Amino acid sequence: MVFDLHIGVLAFPFGTHAGPLLTLVQRLAASSPRTQFSFLNTRVSNGSMFNARVSVPYENIKVYDVWDGMPQGFWGNHFEAIRLFLSASPDNFEKVIEKAEEETGLKLCCLISDAFLSFACDLAEKRGVPWVAFWGSASHSLSVHVHTEEILKAVGSTEVTKQEHTLSYIPGLTKVRLSDLPPENFLDKNPSLLALTINNMVQKLPKSIAVVLNCFEEIDPVITNDLKSKFKHLLNIGPLMLGLQPQHLILSSPNPRALDDKTGCLSWLDNQNKPRSAIYISFGSFVTPSKNEVMSLAEALETCQIPFLWSMKDHVKKSLPEGFLNRTIAYGKIVAWAPQLQVLGHSSIGAFISHCGWNSILESICSCVPMICVPMTMADHKLNARMVVDSWKIGVGVEGVLTKSKTIEALNHVMFSEAGKPIRENIYRLKEKALDAVKLDGSSTKNYKKLLEIISAPKLG
Ligand code: UDP
Repeated sequence: MVFDLHIGVLAFPFGTHAGPLLTLVQRLAASSPRTQFSFLNTRVSNGSMFNARVSVPYENIKVYDVWDGMPQGFWGNHFEAIRLFLSASPDNFEKVIEKAEEETGLKLCCLISDAFLSFACDLAEKRGVPWVAFWGSASHSLSVHVHTEEILKAVGSTEVTKQEHTLSYIPGLTKVRLSDLPPENFLDKNPSLLALTINNMVQKLPKSIAVVLNCFEEIDPVITNDLKSKFKHLLNIGPLMLGLQPQHLILSSPNPRALDDKTGCLSWLDNQNKPRSAIYISFGSFVTPSKNEVMSLAEALETCQIPFLWSMKDHVKKSLPEGFLNRTIAYGKIVAWAPQLQVLGHSSIGAFISHCGWNSILESICSCVPMICVPMTMADHKLNARMVVDSWKIGVGVEGVLTKSKTIEALNHVMFSEAGKPIRENIYRLKEKALDAVKLDGSSTKNYKKLLEIISAPKLG
């Protein structure tokens, strides 16, 4: 295969960052068959997405491993792993870029990277090629970082109780409170590596040729318009899971349901006798709920006896009440990992208890499943929860400490009560907007075409 263009793609290998970026690259590869996409990511993260059974379905995507910075036998926590990886960057990426250029016989003409990896801006500048930044999350979470300076200034001068202070002066964020913001917004108080990374990103993003988001314009037109004024191109191209190409590579196998249902979640849902009668619970890929949260949820489920499917890591099971698994076996199922997209899309699911990671929220919207938000003090989870509850009104939150009675109240509200009807209707309307965005003449499709145009005729904007 002879290629005309060569584009480098740099992934951030932690959390769920790399998956949506790969989905985007797959779509671009299908649309632009004479461009080679070199996908650079760590061995472990690549290994979690590809294996002997699942390979890249496009000839023009070549997957490369970059060094993760970890010494042999490293056994540390998530944050230490991120620190090591970032200290090894960008040298680790540069080495592999050179190798990819040598193997392809083509110099890179554009760099696409996870927005966190803003050193890609310098690598692109050095090569005289444009940089496209991918923010795999929502527009509101980008906005709070872009507006950090204004927020800090306002907070410094306000007399109001700080945590209750709302961001009424930031377009589209009038419902957001100071206490909802990610810790990374406060570099002074929290000089973490992640905070520094995001701060660097904010400085560099205006230099990118385009900022691409896994979001859709109509979810927050005011924020979209505000952000459009900050960047050369702001391109919402999501929800990526609703697009032309499968989100998970595994879906490209001949019988995806059988492969995805190794744990029997979908057949368990088939056996529920009423539509919208079961709850799905998940805290995403790396968050661990506290013992109190697990206990409160478990006690609520036992009291209500609502069928539940709970994606729970094995080490969390020790937080469950004694004998819970046996007592709930007739109406509950716990698995270490669920095929979440298909689970949420199943007609038996009536509510989603979620930690409010952005992918989970998008998947919930696309499946029309109202949410009960149990966010952790991490990343954008609390901020996302605020938007779900107060801006889009497609779920409920639980104020303060999670208890059994608050959980029961929330479940009744979103699943059964008359008072919860507007929530169920709102999520239906938002899903329609998401679907419209990815139609042939929809905003996300138009933005995607613009992106394709930019990367197909790359010039520094
Ligand atoms: N997920 C899944 N099965 C599970 C738990 C999570 O497939 O049992 C997927 C889920 O569909 C979503 C991702 O993992 O795409 C979690 O991403 P999110 O942004 O919600 O949370 P994070 O893991 O980044 O905190």
